[in-house]
Amino acid sequence: MADKSFNAFEMAQAQFDRVAGLLDLDEATRQLLRYNLREYHVSIPVRMDDGSHKVFRGFRVQHNDARGPAKGGIRFHPMETIDTVRALAMWMTWKCAVVDIPLGGGKGGVICDPHHLSMREQEQVCRGWVRQLSKNMGPLTDVPAPDVMTSAQHMLWMLDEFETIRGEKLPGFITGKPVGMGGSLGRTEATGFGVVFTIREALKELNIPPSETTASVQGFGNVAQYAIDLYQQIWGKVVCVSCWDQTDQTSYSFRKKNGIDLAELRGITDRFGGIDKAKAKELGYEILPGEAWLEQDVDILIPAALENQITAANVKKIGDRVKIIAEGANGPTSPEADAAIAKRKIFMIPDLLANAGGVTCSYFEQVQCNMNYFWEKDEVLGKLDVKMTSAFAAVSELAKKRGIYMRDAAYVIAVGRVARACKDRGWV
Ligand code: GLU
Repeated sequence: MADKSFNAFEMAQAQFDRVAGLLDLDEATRQLLRYNLREYHVSIPVRMDDGSHKVFRGFRVQHNDARGPAKGGIRFHPMETIDTVRALAMWMTWKCAVVDIPLGGGKGGVICDPHHLSMREQEQVCRGWVRQLSKNMGPLTDVPAPDVMTSAQHMLWMLDEFETIRGEKLPGFITGKPVGMGGSLGRTEATGFGVVFTIREALKELNIPPSETTASVQGFGNVAQYAIDLYQQIWGKVVCVSCWDQTDQTSYSFRKKNGIDLAELRGITDRFGGIDKAKAKELGYEILPGEAWLEQDVDILIPAALENQITAANVKKIGDRVKIIAEGANGPTSPEADAAIAKRKIFMIPDLLANAGGVTCSYFEQVQCNMNYFWEKDEVLGKLDVKMTSAFAAVSELAKKRGIYMRDAAYVIAVGRVARACKDRGWV
């Protein structure tokens, strides 16, 4: 987001165009799918704690709903742009399709920095966003969820505002709610755990026991922390993590060659995933530049921060030993870097597949809300594993059968399903 020359939507469209070619899609289908169906730009007036008034800009984009209601998170970020939200909405359509859940794709964003907003001010941003968009969203049309710098608490405020406006209880309006308030057990873990389910499957294919592998992770937010958690449970060793430092306005990597201690690092991390440098140093971590996570001598790289992180400028720094890249973030690899990675024959688990665990669990949350009957955590995570594993198997089988790159295989399956739904409905 910080790089002005990077346009995520152009990248998403270029990825789509490539697959449209592979699938030989007709012109009308291409025109429909390379743009979003609908987008909303809103202004959100908020009375700040000091009594002043401030207006925040927000967006909601619905890329496609042929397979079901639009689905996707809402991000709070100071560098948010409409083009990033457009790209992320399109990626959500493909993500829901690749794991074959009956949902379309959407995304939202508000240009704001929660680091500098009190909880009351954040609540007002959440409620204001819903007030502007309540006519255009709902359980059967477009369903938001948490994303970068938004949490279960934000979802509950949004739900409360929506239900107040509509005058009825509609827990299916939003997912990622707190457990006990219509949320699903396992939703917090789902994205990170899903990343590791796919890594586990990739390691099986490569015939490498997880216990003999090491990994380096970019980011230390929700996705990264739970990916590290499950990866360590299957005996992998994480030697490096990186995160954004709000005070210095740059990122740093934290390395411990014998393996990082997740609980210890969590204990010195703020709610945005920022690790306290001074305390980490005391605990024996080496503090390295932000990009150092990419250069580590490890088997697995897990970018789990933001888009456009592995680029033409740094892709050469990826070490020789790296065998797998699992994209926990959305769009972390630029097309140029992706081509270089494909050439090196690194096993790529692309974002739409690797991080689909979050939205898959959101779908389970909707199902549970509809029944008003909530499953045990093991049941949720077991179902999540089945979904992720079968999606991985289908993508990897197609990649092998057609001799194509994993990302292309995932796109062929996803775009093919969405194009079919649009055709069957008689749209194109
Ligand atoms: N924000 C997550 C994503 O990018 C989850 C979306 C959802 O659960 O709807 O996949």
